[in-house]
Amino acid sequence: MGVKVSSPPPRVVVVGAGLGGVTMAVKLTKAGFHDFVVLEAEEGAGGTWRVNDYPGCEVDVDSAIYSLPYRDHVFTRTHAKQPELLDYIEETLDIYHVRERFRFGVRVEEIRWDDQTCTYTVRTADGERLECDVVVSAVGMLSDPKPPPWPGAATFQGRMFHTQKWPKDVDLSGRRVAVVGVGASAAQIVPSIADEVKQLYVFQREPGWVLPKHDRDFSEAELRELSKRSKRLGRKLKLMAKNEWAYLYHPVFQVNSKRNLAGRDRALAYLDEVFADRPDLKAALTPQYPFSGKRRILTDVFYPTLKRTNVELVPHEVSGVTATGIVDSTGYEREVDVIITAIGYKASDYLSSLRVYGRGGRDLHEKWRDGAFAFLGTTVPEFPNLYLLYGPNTNGAAPITYVHERQAAYVVANLKRMLRTGVKSIEVKSSWTDRYNKVLQRRLSRTAWAQGNNYFKGPKGQIVTQWRDGLVVFSLLLKLLRRPASIER
Ligand SMILES: Cc1cc2nc3c(=O)[nH]c(=O)nc-3n(C[C@H](O)[C@H](O)[C@H](O)COP(=O)(O)OP(=O)(O)OC[C@H]3O[C@@H](n4cnc5c(N)ncnc54)[C@H](O)[C@@H]3O)c2cc1C
Repeated sequence: MGVKVSSPPPRVVVVGAGLGGVTMAVKLTKAGFHDFVVLEAEEGAGGTWRVNDYPGCEVDVDSAIYSLPYRDHVFTRTHAKQPELLDYIEETLDIYHVRERFRFGVRVEEIRWDDQTCTYTVRTADGERLECDVVVSAVGMLSDPKPPPWPGAATFQGRMFHTQKWPKDVDLSGRRVAVVGVGASAAQIVPSIADEVKQLYVFQREPGWVLPKHDRDFSEAELRELSKRSKRLGRKLKLMAKNEWAYLYHPVFQVNSKRNLAGRDRALAYLDEVFADRPDLKAALTPQYPFSGKRRILTDVFYPTLKRTNVELVPHEVSGVTATGIVDSTGYEREVDVIITAIGYKASDYLSSLRVYGRGGRDLHEKWRDGAFAFLGTTVPEFPNLYLLYGPNTNGAAPITYVHERQAAYVVANLKRMLRTGVKSIEVKSSWTDRYNKVLQRRLSRTAWAQGNNYFKGPKGQIVTQWRDGLVVFSLLLKLLRRPASIER
């Protein structure tokens, strides 16, 4: 092996300007890497928190820990609402002087590796081609909505839209509205629009496990307390420790663990309490699969709203749409003016918005035909210098903003390595990735996630979205395995 020379700083393209892309930009800048650009399809930063402006949209993890690890902030609520989160993200671009690195309204269509030059060509929807040494995908997991799958959907004469595409001009007052789905977004939308609509039908294929959220605005006295940095940090540390411990010790997603059973009991007691006078609703809303088998729904207002006289829970899946209505699986049609599809995202179809080609023209989606995987959710064999933030198996057991931050630190460490040694490419070893995924899948197969119908699974039924061992283990593995698991070329 010859002596390697120090080379010019790698050129980096980041795709996506959600919390992940913003963190990557801040990390690169702080580390002295300035030759980078963030390409974002939307007209501004924020990702999830820009495009989801439906009524009631707010985070379901306490904002003290669902916030950027490097940016301390006083939120006005325990769980920030979408506009506050969006402002927080937007301000971050200016506070860290990274705004000029962002290009908005630029949709990336293809990323292609060149074996000869050891560079990527990033092609945008406008046909522009950017050459770079390193690509960071920060396209998120819940950014590509599922289209309506029902026969007849195209014939509907009213308005139909996905929760992520809430039209600016829609007026629901006095209308007959169907919300399809009872997941996290539906549980926020239904209580927020029930007052204004004439009639609301909520279509449920399968109930979720619901727990009270206890979200609230901070009182003036609390805000005064939280304006002291030490108080804020104390609260944050307490919540982080509680969160971490909850995933390491008798984790809630481990079937029949102490926390799993306690969670189930609390959810059942909550059903008993709210629906004491409505046994029909209680029966329809009681899940028949283990607690945590789907993403838990946290809300204080969804269940009570279902008891309103202008709201009807339809405990059936939708089987079709007509010009004027929506048909459930029993064949019954309800006439509606508006259909809101709260049916989620192509979560397990990672990087669904672009094509990616690696060494020897290898197609990433072809490689992932049986289900997406990556080494520590971050790197994939045969795809040198490509990093995925919030990639496969990173969701679920730690505030995602911290996962982003740890992954961005991994990218920066590898960039420094390229700069120091002169190597042109760094790639994770197949052998390490295979072994890692075998162990991971074995551990995941014993969770409640494996037993529920959820968006966590790939085409073969294996769990491709979830991480189960908390932030500390994830961070340690990233740090310790970064070098031994990869090869330099
Ligand atoms: C309604 C909703 C509520 C949520 N609530 C919570 C919560 O309470 N707690 C929690 O932990 N998580 C929650 N999530 C998950 C949330 O997505 C993550 O927490 C986090 O915001 C992900 O950030 P990200 O930057 O990785 O991805 P995103 O925020 O999804 O950002 C990805 C960005 O990439 C852009 N992009 C995608 N493809 C391309 C392309 N080809 N070219 C250019 N740009 C592209 C998108 O436009 C988007 O701006 C929620 C998700 C949704 C949809």
